[in-house]
Amino acid sequence: MGIVTVRDDNAYWQPALETQSRADWRRLQVDLLKAHLHHAYTGSPYYRTTFDAHGVHPDDLRTLDDLRRFPFLNKATIRERQLAVPPFGDLVAVPERDIVYISASSGSTGVPTASPFTAGDFDEWIDYEARQFWSSGLRPTDRYAHALNFSLFVGGPCVLGAQKLGALSIHAGTLPSERLLAVLQQFQVTALWTTPSYAWHLGETAVRAGIDPKRDLAVRRLFVAGEPGGSIPETRARIEALWGADIYDYYGLSDIFGSCAGMCAEKDGLHWAEDHILVEVLDPETGEPVPEGERGEMVLTTLRKRARPLIRFRTGDVVSVTTEPCRCGRTSLRLKGVHGRLDDMLIIKGVNLFPGDVEAVVRQEPALTGEYRLVVDRVEHLDRLTVEVEHIHGFNGDPADLRDHLRRHLKAATGVGADVSLLPPDTLPRAVHKAKRIEDRRSHVWS
Ligand SMILES: [Zn+2]
Repeated sequence: MGIVTVRDDNAYWQPALETQSRADWRRLQVDLLKAHLHHAYTGSPYYRTTFDAHGVHPDDLRTLDDLRRFPFLNKATIRERQLAVPPFGDLVAVPERDIVYISASSGSTGVPTASPFTAGDFDEWIDYEARQFWSSGLRPTDRYAHALNFSLFVGGPCVLGAQKLGALSIHAGTLPSERLLAVLQQFQVTALWTTPSYAWHLGETAVRAGIDPKRDLAVRRLFVAGEPGGSIPETRARIEALWGADIYDYYGLSDIFGSCAGMCAEKDGLHWAEDHILVEVLDPETGEPVPEGERGEMVLTTLRKRARPLIRFRTGDVVSVTTEPCRCGRTSLRLKGVHGRLDDMLIIKGVNLFPGDVEAVVRQEPALTGEYRLVVDRVEHLDRLTVEVEHIHGFNGDPADLRDHLRRHLKAATGVGADVSLLPPDTLPRAVHKAKRIEDRRSHVWS
């Protein structure tokens, strides 16, 4: 793609692409997918061997449904192949001399996995980031601060999308909160990217330091990613009120792009980068598609990333999507919710529960700080869920009434009966970047 010149008042970055019909999206995806499967098969020993073993060939793909004949892979596959053929694994489909950038996952659950990019992959990614920022209302007149980690983290280079768009781009990184607040104040930053937990923490830190984010800071757009909170209305509303800013939720994946989807000004779901990534939403048990709008595991296939194609990558994220046209005029598939990780899905007395389901209830209650933790244990062979919450400073209601009210509200909203433990403010650990919301003590009961 060449240089794109877009006027500030244009609604779209690439109007023809962004507003094309669903049939045109499917045609585009089939064309890209055919070429991409051939590239994977001819370039990557892993894909050649695995496709052959499953009796499938890139020529077998005529429609998007035909993709279901191809095998899945997941994070463990990437890790295994990387250990088998170091350092990048044999999913890589280009010579190493063509690789110019890698990100690596944090490695909190094992050996970090590297995500390689060719120069072309990297440029296309940044083009997409610019388009996505534009759809969220970022303009060349904005002053944008990127407060994410740059160390091997795929979220870091997203700042280049803002820069490509023409915004003044401040590569802030993970500064201490006081320092970041000083930067926001000094440069009167208008847009900021961080995690939802950190946006909250930073806003509260500002207030404690005598800075009113609404009055003393100029931040009017907050981009967030990395946790479900950015799409939970109650969480959004509280962070937006604290900052006097609009929140735009984004979704990214260390193994593909820093962002793969993001909100437009309508803030009604996250528009997906469908010219780069194909989305399937499947029943995790059967591997069959769920009806549109229902919750299922998101499975992703890259369509043009040449360094390391990912074909049918099981993300472990439970999502719901829609292809209904958005009021903004864009026609891409939208994520309606990232409900949580399959790993974080608690099964309490047979009912599926995500931390986000509880968050929606907790953050509606003005007498609570909004912090919470789920503690699960097993008492006499029965699961017991305790939701720990904090009352606000100066709370003078009846604690028993509040606990009772929450118990009923939680039961009605989630179908799960829970105990509520009401704690004083500032008792629960504050997340600096990613909140740990679940303490499952059940395994210890049986060990
Ligand atoms: Zn939209």
